[in-house]
Amino acid sequence: MPKTYDFLVAGGSIAGLTFASEAARRGASVLVAEEHDEIGEPEKCDGLVSLRGLTKYGYPPAPDVIQNKITSAVIHSPSDRHFAVNASSLDVVVLDRSAFDKQVAATAVSNGAEVRTGSRVGRLVQRKDRVEAKAGDADVEARYLVDATGPASSPRHGILPAAKYELEGSWVREHVVEVFLDAAKYPGFFAWVIPFGRHRAKVGAAGYGVSPFRALDDFLQGRECSVLRKVSAPIYVGGPSPRFVEPGRILVGESAGQVKPTTAGGIMTSVAAGVIASKWASQSVQKGDPALLDRYQKEWERTFLKEMRTMLRLRGIFEKLSNPDLETVFSAMATPRLIMKLSQTDFDFHASALLGALGMSGLLRVAKVIASAEVRSLLMEP
Ligand SMILES: Cc1cc2nc3c(=O)[nH]c(=O)nc-3n(C[C@H](O)[C@H](O)[C@H](O)COP(=O)(O)OP(=O)(O)OC[C@H]3O[C@@H](n4cnc5c(N)ncnc54)[C@H](O)[C@@H]3O)c2cc1C
Repeated sequence: MPKTYDFLVAGGSIAGLTFASEAARRGASVLVAEEHDEIGEPEKCDGLVSLRGLTKYGYPPAPDVIQNKITSAVIHSPSDRHFAVNASSLDVVVLDRSAFDKQVAATAVSNGAEVRTGSRVGRLVQRKDRVEAKAGDADVEARYLVDATGPASSPRHGILPAAKYELEGSWVREHVVEVFLDAAKYPGFFAWVIPFGRHRAKVGAAGYGVSPFRALDDFLQGRECSVLRKVSAPIYVGGPSPRFVEPGRILVGESAGQVKPTTAGGIMTSVAAGVIASKWASQSVQKGDPALLDRYQKEWERTFLKEMRTMLRLRGIFEKLSNPDLETVFSAMATPRLIMKLSQTDFDFHASALLGALGMSGLLRVAKVIASAEVRSLLMEP
């Protein structure tokens, strides 16, 4: 007879590992099964995140996991006009994402979770009171499957092809993140430069229907560099799923769509999901009360749903803008007052912060450029 775990976590990345760590700390029996042979590998994420958010949820990165601190963000328009936002008080850092996942895996193990690598979860059978699955070659039983498999399970809409190079180039500005807008080259997204050391950066591009490596090669024309590593991985911008809990199954992280629809950043929101879900799932198992599981979705949504909806509306507007529209919106937004306000905002709640900084007059200026339903809904926001 196989051992029955409280939770079988499919996916040993940030959402699954935080869930496992917290559930084990609360006394639950947890098995994490990760299909790859090494936690954190292959690394796809750029690791740009706010320390504030991770610290709030009890998972601050160890000092040696932090590769860089960001002091400024420069936004470029299609015609390469630009403005810079001072980010020195926003606590934004670049993580070695693979090392961060290993850090959380070590905490999970020291809290009592089992972590198996090279172990893909497949062939799932749902019984009345448990799930039966294959994890690698082993038969596993658990009360719940925690689906932390990332984009493999996230909703199909809102997935964009993306790629990044890690490179060395003398033009990389050590503490400055750069975002390049161009609706023709990166429809629905942008190109980015995230420095992770002196003259080293993670440089990426994404967009609907683009060939991201071709877009990156075009971007790098005239920027001399040597490429250290190439990664291709989709990003998800479609917003949270309507249901995080299904019979016998709890979804956390990107598989529940818990990713910012503006930037596709999902580290902090996934950590939050792991922590919140494990709290209610552990209580649910200990008290034998399945209804407690619903509190996970309620608590996560109480913190993030309004912001995610605002981000989705901003995305709806952004996706409609042509390059001339982008130039006009850029002019309307690049005012000293707005730039100053943005430098004092919360990185994790940047959509609300942007709206607050724009104010009614700024929104009206944007509305002159695009009279869309999305702008009207933002104007009516309480
Ligand atoms: C190019 C790129 C850059 C990014 N940059 C940033 C950034 O700078 N900042 C930020 O906040 N976010 C960023 N993100 C998003 C961030 O990486 C994700 O939102 C986050 O990693 C989601 O965590 P997760 O644990 O839900 O899923 P994932 O990190 O996707 O992990 C899913 C895990 O499940 C495993 N798995 C899948 N199927 C199975 C199975 N059947 N059995 C066992 N294991 C399985 C996978 O191997 C993987 O380890 C980026 C994403 C991409 C693609």
